[in-house]
Amino acid sequence: MSNPRLIDMHVHMVGNGSGGSGGWLRLNGWHRWLAGFMLRQLGVPASALEGNLEAIYSEHLAKLVRESSMDAVVLLAHERVHDPNGTPREDLGSMFVPNDVVLGLAEKFPEFLAGVSIHPARGDALDELERCLERGAVLMKCLPNCQNIDPSDKRYSPFWERMAEAGLPLLAHTGGEHTVPIVNAALADPKLLRLPLECGVTVIAAHCGTKSGAFDRDYFDDWVAMLREFPNLYGDISALVSLNRCGHLRDCLRDEIAPRILHGSDFPVPVLGHRMWVQGWIDRATFRRCQSLRNPLERDWQFKRALGFGDEIATRVSGLLRQSPSFPVILSGAKNL
Ligand SMILES: [Zn+2]
Repeated sequence: MSNPRLIDMHVHMVGNGSGGSGGWLRLNGWHRWLAGFMLRQLGVPASALEGNLEAIYSEHLAKLVRESSMDAVVLLAHERVHDPNGTPREDLGSMFVPNDVVLGLAEKFPEFLAGVSIHPARGDALDELERCLERGAVLMKCLPNCQNIDPSDKRYSPFWERMAEAGLPLLAHTGGEHTVPIVNAALADPKLLRLPLECGVTVIAAHCGTKSGAFDRDYFDDWVAMLREFPNLYGDISALVSLNRCGHLRDCLRDEIAPRILHGSDFPVPVLGHRMWVQGWIDRATFRRCQSLRNPLERDWQFKRALGFGDEIATRVSGLLRQSPSFPVILSGAKNL
C-alpha cells in the first residue's frame, strides 16, 4: 500500500524560448523588474532571463521540489491571448509557454506533472486537447482575464464536455492579477465558471476569487456561495501567503470551506508571511522560522501548516488530477512516509 502523495498543484513554468521551444517572454518596465526580482529570490541570477531560461529554471525547480516536503508539483504551461474568434494575439500578453514544454519536462522529471493551457476558441482546441491527453496532461490551466477567455461562452461547451469526460480538471485564475497583464478585468469573476461546472468539469478556482490589488473587486464570497451549489468546485490557496492577497487565507479554514481547499504555491510568486505575523495570526518565532526558509516551496507550505492547514490540502490534489498510466499520480510511493 502506498500513501497519497503531497502535490503542489500551482507552479508556473517560465521560459524565453532560447532553447527552441517556440515560447517567448516579453517583459517591459514593472514586469521586467518583477521577473528579475522573482528569479533572484529563487537563487537564479537575473542574467538567466537572457540565457537558456527554460533549462536553468526547470533544473533549479526540480531540485527545490526534491528538497521540499512535496512529492511532485503540477507545472503549468501558459497559453497566448486569443480573440473570441480564435485568432492568436501575439501583440498582447507577456509570455507563452507551449504545452510541449511542460509535457516534455513531465516525461523527464518525476517531480513534475503536466498542466497544459489551451484557449478554447482556438480552431484546433479539441485536437490540441486530445494530443495533450495522449501525452499525459493532468489538468488544464487558464487565466480568463489575462488570456481573454469567457468560460461561460456557449460555444465552448463541447470543449468542457470533453474535459469532463476525460477527467481533466480545469484550474482557472479568479480575482485580480498583477504579475501578468490583464486583457479583460470582468473575466476574473468565478461566476463565469458555471458553464464548465454544469458540463461536469472539476473546476479549481485559483486564489479562491480573492483580490490582488487594493482596487480589485473581491469575489471570495461569490466563490463560497458557489461551493454550496457545485460539489465539483474547489479553490486553491496559491499566492495567498503574500502581502497583497492574504486577507481571506484564514477564512479558508472554516468548516464549510476547508474540505474544498487545495494546496498550490504559485511559484515563482514571492512568499511573504509578514502580514500574517502583523495581524497576529502567527507569533514572531513562527514567522521568523518560516520566513527564513530559503526554499520558497517549503516556505509557503510551512506558513500554511503553521496557520492550521493539514496534509490533506496537498494529498487531496492526487484524487482530483487526471490519472494517466504514464503518470501514476496516486500510486507512486510518497518520499516522506
Ligand atoms: Zn499563478
